[in-house]
Amino acid sequence: MEHKLKIYNTLNRKKELFVPNNSPYVGLYVCGPTVYGDAHLGHARPAITFDTLFRYLNHLGYKVRYVRNITDVGHLEHDADDGEDKIAKKARLEKLEPMEIVQYYLTRYHKAMEKLNVLPPSIEPHASGHIIEQIEFVKKILDSGYAYESEGSVYFDVEKYNKKYNYGKLSGRNIDELLETTRDLDGQSEKRRSVDFALWKKAAPEHIMHWPSPWSEGFPGWHLECSAMGTKYLGEEFDIHGGGMDLMFPHHECEIAQSTAALGKETVHYWMHNNMITINGQKMGKSLGNFITLDEFFQGSHKLLEQPYSAMTIRFFILQAHYRSTVDFSNDALKASEKGYIRLMEGYNRLLKLKPADKTTVEVAGLRERCEEAMLDDLNTPIVISNLFDATKGINTVYDGKGTISAEDLEELKSVFKLFVEDILGLLREENGGSANDAYKKAIDLLLEIRQESKAKKDWDTADKIRKQLAEYGFEIKDGKNGSEWTL
Ligand code: ZN
Repeated sequence: MEHKLKIYNTLNRKKELFVPNNSPYVGLYVCGPTVYGDAHLGHARPAITFDTLFRYLNHLGYKVRYVRNITDVGHLEHDADDGEDKIAKKARLEKLEPMEIVQYYLTRYHKAMEKLNVLPPSIEPHASGHIIEQIEFVKKILDSGYAYESEGSVYFDVEKYNKKYNYGKLSGRNIDELLETTRDLDGQSEKRRSVDFALWKKAAPEHIMHWPSPWSEGFPGWHLECSAMGTKYLGEEFDIHGGGMDLMFPHHECEIAQSTAALGKETVHYWMHNNMITINGQKMGKSLGNFITLDEFFQGSHKLLEQPYSAMTIRFFILQAHYRSTVDFSNDALKASEKGYIRLMEGYNRLLKLKPADKTTVEVAGLRERCEEAMLDDLNTPIVISNLFDATKGINTVYDGKGTISAEDLEELKSVFKLFVEDILGLLREENGGSANDAYKKAIDLLLEIRQESKAKKDWDTADKIRKQLAEYGFEIKDGKNGSEWTL
């Protein structure tokens, strides 16, 4: 594969040339949602970041097996090993089966992802469907001596593991400090150390989700599913593991420890983490009242929102920042993104209406290379977008009759826009901020075409009638050198 894709590997803290383990196949694993509530802005960012990576790897010619898991068991309230299972709790409160909760929110998650034009992954495994694999994984860790059984539960022995390997290598946490501050546990807990984490938990009598195992009737620890399912579908060594930065510790750190203890080697070659979204400078959180779901964004129904924002505006907003920078949400920032998105799409729509001339007076050369270079440099989507905006200026010049473009350059420009706007950035060509669907747009275009033909035949009555009626329905028609444009 002839390319120089560089990605920032969180594990080594530097940009590295991407060399796949088993070219032309690429294994990509991304931690998916715990489905006990509606998807929010924090879910949109990893989904869009790794969707863009998935699309770009496909563009480079790789065959990508993209695994994004669904956590439907074992994710306890206090990310470690304490508290109630998040899904079981929701089920108890709603008086439903846990799997009813999972089905309900998963369907809604898929709908939100479809609106954001996030492609479905190749495999979407559920933790609850892989209990056997997880039990086998615990057995391997016990066999290698890095786990211990205690009162029907099994815990990972972090201190012992750290003597041979480096626990904390991904997140940069200092394990000695962690151990130092946790000496006081002796004899008071099933765990030897509070840094130890559960691989298998014995279920309390009131716990609804449990399975038989050699140790107890219980359930797997949250971190285990990703080790078990990642290696099941992508092999003992695979290319890229992604997720939000909030998952780096303890989730991904524990995943590395589990896989290394069970298999005696590093499983993941490149770790990629997207940065977080803050809301008006604050972390998102249910207790802070700034927890806005995607549906609330689409409908404008949260008290912090001044208006609804379309799915494409959200996608554009996220892609306008590099995935490793923080993004701060505010109404002003999203309104600016909405304007930017509409401006880009207006340029794209005008491009499709341009008529070729003998020569080109605007800049077309080098655009494809500049966009490609930006993507190869650790997926620099904001640079791609700014290059496309520069090209839009040229398109508008030609559209306004102040410049010309040759047939060859016109084809090139159309092809670059199709590739980067639609295929790689995944932005759908929609007018009016994304509310019009394709058939409806075609119908309006057809009416405007009939109006043009009527004018050519000097049938002013028909031409006038179409314009007047459309205006009455709320459409604004602008006539230009290259035909008519409409907005609602
Ligand atoms: Zn995970």
